[in-house]
Amino acid sequence: MTGPNSTKLDVLVATQTLGPFVMRRLRIDAGEPLRYFVTMPPAPVGSRGSATSTDDAQKPAKELPESLPEIELSALLGRRLTLHHTGVLRCQACGNHTRKSYSQGHCYPCFKRLASCDLCVMAPHRCHYDKGTCRDPKWGESFCMQPHLVYLANSSGIKVGITRAGQQLGRWRDQGALQGRLLATASTRRAAGELEVQLAKEFGDRSQWRALVSSDADPIDLDVAAHRARELVPEPGEGVRYVDDETHSLSYPVAAWPPTNRLNFKKTDTVSGVLTGIKGQYLLLDSGVFNVREHTGYEVTLQVHASDTIEPVSGVPVANSASQIDLF
Ligand SMILES: [Zn+2]
Repeated sequence: MTGPNSTKLDVLVATQTLGPFVMRRLRIDAGEPLRYFVTMPPAPVGSRGSATSTDDAQKPAKELPESLPEIELSALLGRRLTLHHTGVLRCQACGNHTRKSYSQGHCYPCFKRLASCDLCVMAPHRCHYDKGTCRDPKWGESFCMQPHLVYLANSSGIKVGITRAGQQLGRWRDQGALQGRLLATASTRRAAGELEVQLAKEFGDRSQWRALVSSDADPIDLDVAAHRARELVPEPGEGVRYVDDETHSLSYPVAAWPPTNRLNFKKTDTVSGVLTGIKGQYLLLDSGVFNVREHTGYEVTLQVHASDTIEPVSGVPVANSASQIDLF
């Protein structure tokens, strides 16, 4: 996607500061390895001030232009990046300022009010739509009462998961999965969730982030695992049907594994390091690991340091730290 607002890489030869923009998930395109883009929705007007400005807090976020500026982050391996949090945090639903992020980028009122922030979204087998207690039945119909898929993936080892029909590739990419294979179709989110819960006892349903960013997991024969799943749960439930699929392989732009400490804006407003890779929604920096998804709604600037500070070493470009001292 290159719109008129797209920032071309050739303008990034010098040190550039991009933003401020409101952080959202990285956009991921097909490729071997996958290609990553950081999209930069402009910070809404009036957002630069104090996060406690009550006037501004009443205003909803302005609508975003159709074509957002973006840069290909996966083309910047070996470059030093500095993310600076302006202090402003925006609710991704209503656009208002919030002091704290709930449910990945929501203000507290939206977190308590929205059906998409209800507990059942994280635990689909607890969907309570049929009890008539859905926070927003219209949203429930458009999101939960729709065809879903149950899949097996290998991210930091095997796991079972669910996603809406057609969303599986994006889901696997977001998770940093190396392999994915569909297992079953389900008529609703809850039906998929019920099979997931039964299979999670055998396969697990979580990724271990530390393992994910430390190495690539060994390949798994997902056909064998799918066969095992059918043995474990021969009757997958009403509206659920096992399907055949091939195993899909994914690869990520990683030149070097980072130290496995979390980088975030809890104790500092600036995160900086040489980009050595991207996997799932994690930026791998030579100073640690930054989870982009966890920072949805944070207003930041992104500084991409000059490429003339890079010296290619054995095919992998790395920053020359001596020439960067004056930058800080
Ligand atoms: Zn809100």
